[in-house]
Amino acid sequence: MNVLEELKLFYRDWTEEKGFIGCSENGALIPYVAVKKTEKPVILAQYAIHAREYITTYLAMMQAQDFLRNGKRGTVYFIPAANPDGISEAIFTDGNYKANARMVDLNVNFDARWGTGAENVRQKSAENYIGAFPFSESETRALRDFTLMVMPQATVSYHSKGEEIYWEFFQSPSALSRDFRFAKAASVATGYPLKNAGRSAGGYKDWCVEKLGIPAITIEVGSDLLSHPIGKEHATEIFRKNDKLFAALTEIL
Ligand SMILES: [Zn+2]
Repeated sequence: MNVLEELKLFYRDWTEEKGFIGCSENGALIPYVAVKKTEKPVILAQYAIHAREYITTYLAMMQAQDFLRNGKRGTVYFIPAANPDGISEAIFTDGNYKANARMVDLNVNFDARWGTGAENVRQKSAENYIGAFPFSESETRALRDFTLMVMPQATVSYHSKGEEIYWEFFQSPSALSRDFRFAKAASVATGYPLKNAGRSAGGYKDWCVEKLGIPAITIEVGSDLLSHPIGKEHATEIFRKNDKLFAALTEIL
């Protein structure tokens, strides 16, 4: 059973709030599940926006079940597979594929200094293509609209690999200390160091920081020694490093 099939069963069996944030370019539904312990704070976590990083979809399912069992405070929305078409491509044809079905890299398609990233490209590609304009893709629009609907106090984007956390994106001085404190809590909870992303732009995290003014972090899971796509056999060890994250973050918000 592949990861998308496992996600279908997980979704079917989820007894708490669940639904779809929208559709992919090929018409695949993009599911979310929610765990509500208290109304606030609200955290939105999205996974596998880069196709080949679908190890994070397994992580999402494990974290959601764990937070349902053990969480004490807050609400977490989990979007385990933000890029279902790309994940299919990565499973069945090209294990290194990152983009969506239209060869747009969704994590450079958000309206946050769009097109200014050091690695951006302007033609269809397995990675780094920014798209024709910001939010040109149905997946990025779905994430945008769902985020605006639930209005989280913070967001978490899971990627692979490298075991590090990115959090900066042109914050104002006052937001900088708040966001550093948030990122530092994630670093303490996971053991992953904070890192400067260099000149990236147009990412979901970037958009959350710049346009919504909330703390937003990107967590890269999986050792750099592993190759893409990281196999399911690594899901448990990755989960163990990330199992305290939402308890820690809902505590400090
Ligand atoms: Zn990524």
